[in-house]
Amino acid sequence: MAESVRVLVDEAEVAKRIECLGKKISEDYAGKQVHLICVLKGGVFFMCELAKRISVPVSMDFMSVSSYGDGTASSGVVKIAKDLDETLEGKDVLVVEDIIDSGRTLYYLLDILAKRNPKSMKLCTLLDKPDRRVRDVKVDYVGFEIPDEFVVGYGLDYAQKYRNLPYIGVVEGVE
Ligand code: 5GP
Repeated sequence: MAESVRVLVDEAEVAKRIECLGKKISEDYAGKQVHLICVLKGGVFFMCELAKRISVPVSMDFMSVSSYGDGTASSGVVKIAKDLDETLEGKDVLVVEDIIDSGRTLYYLLDILAKRNPKSMKLCTLLDKPDRRVRDVKVDYVGFEIPDEFVVGYGLDYAQKYRNLPYIGVVEGVE
């Protein structure tokens, strides 16, 4: 069977949901400035679209982490490959992720970021696989809860491919 991608959440649904999230975040942060932290590379498409739907002042910063694991599961020991450019001191921080799976990576990352004294810190993820959770991570905004399938698109890759798909899909026909 040739490799192909089955659509799980189509482009219109993703756009509609991001618009809702942006509205909710704008209401929750009324009168404040929200500092978006994008976890590269997967979170970048989502963060750009989300930022455009937020009506309160927005600032943003980027970080890149690599999680040591056995290839199929993350260990939760995170190495910061690219750190933030700016301090979090006194800021209302919203961490924007592509997907939460076991929760190990974020559990570790949020702990690191909390030590930098943000005024507040919340978490927003486009996709959540709650059935896979190993570490307890409080998620404040979720785009879609999805089943335990390996997904691609909207920033998420399979061997660096498919990040550019404008929808969320499942790769089929691979071993
Ligand atoms: P966790 O530490 O929560 O197990 O791992 C989270 C990271 O694993 C995500 O940021 C993402 O890079 C990767 N990941 C988890 N599930 C998927 C998936 O279904 N598709 C892709 N492309 N990456 C995933």
